[in-house]
Amino acid sequence: MSHTIDRLQNLCESCHRPLLAGYDLAGLRATGAFTLDKVRQRTERSLWRFHDVLPVNGVREAVSLGEGLTPLLPAERRGPFAAFENLFIKDESFNPTGSFKARGMTAAITRAAALGVKAVALPSAGNAAGAATYYANRAGMECFLFMPQDTPPANIIESVVGGARVFLVNGLISDCGKLVKRGCAEFGWFDLSTLKEPFRLEGKKTMGYELACDFAELDRTSEPRLPDVVIYPAGGGTGLVGMWKAFQEMETLGWIGAQRPRMVLVQAENCAPIVRAFQAGTRHAELFPNASTVAAGLRVPAAVGDFLMLDAVRNSGGTALTITDAELLEGVRELARHQGIYACPEGGAVWKAAQKLVASGWLKPHERTVLFNTGAGLKYNHLFPTGNLPVLDHHDPDCLRAVTFAG
Ligand SMILES: *Cc1c(COP(=O)(O)O)cnc(C)c1O
Repeated sequence: MSHTIDRLQNLCESCHRPLLAGYDLAGLRATGAFTLDKVRQRTERSLWRFHDVLPVNGVREAVSLGEGLTPLLPAERRGPFAAFENLFIKDESFNPTGSFKARGMTAAITRAAALGVKAVALPSAGNAAGAATYYANRAGMECFLFMPQDTPPANIIESVVGGARVFLVNGLISDCGKLVKRGCAEFGWFDLSTLKEPFRLEGKKTMGYELACDFAELDRTSEPRLPDVVIYPAGGGTGLVGMWKAFQEMETLGWIGAQRPRMVLVQAENCAPIVRAFQAGTRHAELFPNASTVAAGLRVPAAVGDFLMLDAVRNSGGTALTITDAELLEGVRELARHQGIYACPEGGAVWKAAQKLVASGWLKPHERTVLFNTGAGLKYNHLFPTGNLPVLDHHDPDCLRAVTFAG
């Protein structure tokens, strides 16, 4: 069922499932204004370079903090990374507020602002909170946040500093979501919950367009190019579903053919509703009981877009797998030490997933593979206690003896 863009929208009024934005892509293709070469010549230093396929009437309407256009870094072939011949890291930690949630929020807040919204609300167990706070501030809106008590301190602090109205909840993100729903009905806030709002997905889909531009640049061609495999840490799935939608749009626009990257979905062992559904062969996922993981972005026990994620993974010839918390923390250390990237735990998870997939033969070392580091490690300092470091007494001429002991 179609819905108008001129009014605020959440889920479909008829089936209560996510709404996907549509554009006149055939018309856009006919104008010749939105080709890879034309996009490259644009000067916007943000994802609004792709404004033709975003929910704005012109780029000047955008509520932007310079998000997107993140680097695609080739992995150094060192240590455990040596086995990979064509591994790349799309480093989303460069985004405002330190995660790719900025991509979604810039689009959602832009549309909400254009429609006169004064207050937004959302549940968040991590980075969505900070992104919503700062984009709402940029637009002059109030922001109401409902966060599980065990949300990483950095995520809570940045929202409090930003002046959002922060409420901690003794439950999971799904419990927070229910309070948001009630609050929106009672107080008239606009619900920004992921996939219950149509445009966060539109912002995150720009990762798909950027990959096409990044690989074209790598190959010094003006033809959009995509990798063989994309490995993605999935919570609500907005980014995965968004990229899948972008690939479809790009085909309609004549940018690419029918070929697609195989999409790999990674979750934490103790919160893996989508991986379970993938393995069980079902189209929807069941609520994952007693969900827990240190990777806050993956702590989503039930997702409204479950079937969209599963469709994308299956139709791409992809797969889905889990990583333990111990493994993903090791992954963070390995990315830090061998690649110079302080990744979020979710980034650590996708790297460990790549290793497992090569070990099983599913992924060939020569295949062009993209790992998404979805956020900055600095927000997760609490997961890496340093222990007692040696303190040197600089008055003691012999104090450098300690260097021997510290290695
Ligand atoms: C939110 C988040 C995710 C999950 O993203 P979805 O698109 O909702 O699946 C992964 N990593 C980090 C760091 C996040 O903040």
